[in-house]
Amino acid sequence: MKFRNFKMIGYVVYGRGSFNQLDEILAPQRKADAPMIFLVDHYFTGKPLVDRIPVRGNDKIIFADVTYEPKTTYVDTLAHQLKEEFGTVSGVIGIGGGSTMDLAKAVALMMNNPGSSADYQGWDLVKVPGVYKAGIPTLSGTGAEVSRTTVLTGPTKKLGMNSDFTPFDQIVLDPELTKDAPVNQRFYTGMDCYIHCIESLEGTYLNEFSKSYGEKALQLCRDVFVNKAEWDDDCDDKLMMASYAGGMSIAYSQVGVAHAVSYGLSYLLGTKHGIGNCIVMNHLEEYYPAGVKEFKYMVEKNKIDIPTGICKNLTEEDFNKMMDVSLGMKPLWENALGKDWEQIMTREKLRALYDKL
Ligand code: NAD
Ligand code: ZN
Repeated sequence: MKFRNFKMIGYVVYGRGSFNQLDEILAPQRKADAPMIFLVDHYFTGKPLVDRIPVRGNDKIIFADVTYEPKTTYVDTLAHQLKEEFGTVSGVIGIGGGSTMDLAKAVALMMNNPGSSADYQGWDLVKVPGVYKAGIPTLSGTGAEVSRTTVLTGPTKKLGMNSDFTPFDQIVLDPELTKDAPVNQRFYTGMDCYIHCIESLEGTYLNEFSKSYGEKALQLCRDVFVNKAEWDDDCDDKLMMASYAGGMSIAYSQVGVAHAVSYGLSYLLGTKHGIGNCIVMNHLEEYYPAGVKEFKYMVEKNKIDIPTGICKNLTEEDFNKMMDVSLGMKPLWENALGKDWEQIMTREKLRALYDKL
């Protein structure tokens, strides 16, 4: 057996108000005449956070349009514009949810790698380090702040630039930044973490490394979505650490059925990651009985709407496309159902599951 040797993020700062240290953190990374690029979730346009960004010299703030989840064409356009305008940059700092953080990772890589980001969708295809990159989450749950991938929708597939050059050099975990997230969005993204944990803890790939982080993340999710009467600052603190630990847990394990099925939805219908996982999880009693029961309790307790009937007007061709995408996620299925997963998850069975959504 060969054990995977993981590249981790470089530096981590955690704490309420730690965003205020950003200027100091970035100072040693600045190169003469090469600006820092702040890629900021468009939600923050005109919000007070923008005035707190430590802009110096020719630094630039770009508001990231995350109406849709990141596409390779968007990454390429951003990287191309920056190269045209500045030649090179000192770094790319992503401030936002999973979408913005993934965009920042990908743009930083594409500043130094030739061609299109679509050429690097896969495992270990990136050969040259990108420019310095930092991630600052404003939503908690995806684990994108610690992961070695960046999920992109390309011309033919939805797949990350998964490589040793992908993890951030620095992350700034300031729970204050997640304070104003809308209740539904906070839940969907938080459930991404919860579902990651269930899938990895119940998966066949699990080892003690992943279990240790996964159990902690699961407990933190429960603290905030099951045990707390009202949302407070403590919940933001905890969910941010749940996301971090959940991301660390995935390093050695894998996600499972909810993610594999939800990828099909997102590819065909553009369903966003967090909500897509929730739509699927709602119907997975057969695979994760205890997790689904608790999930439904959390939905009710937090008064969240989970859409239903999203597949009802689809054609046979649509279903086939979704199933192709989903069944293509082999490691996810193998983690969930074991080596013989293909005998268990037949096309008929998967079709019946999509029909229920
Ligand atoms: P998101 O980044 O797509 O943002 C969702 C919405 O929340 C957007 O409208 C955004 O503007 C808004 N928003 C963000 N922060 C806010 C705040 N503080 N207050 C108010 N609104 C705010 O959502 P997400 O769930 O964090 O990320 C999903 C993305 O992450 C998907 O593209 C998915 O593929 C990716 N992902 C990546 C990894 C990874 O390892 N790289 C893992 C899981 C998911
Ligand atoms: Zn996920």
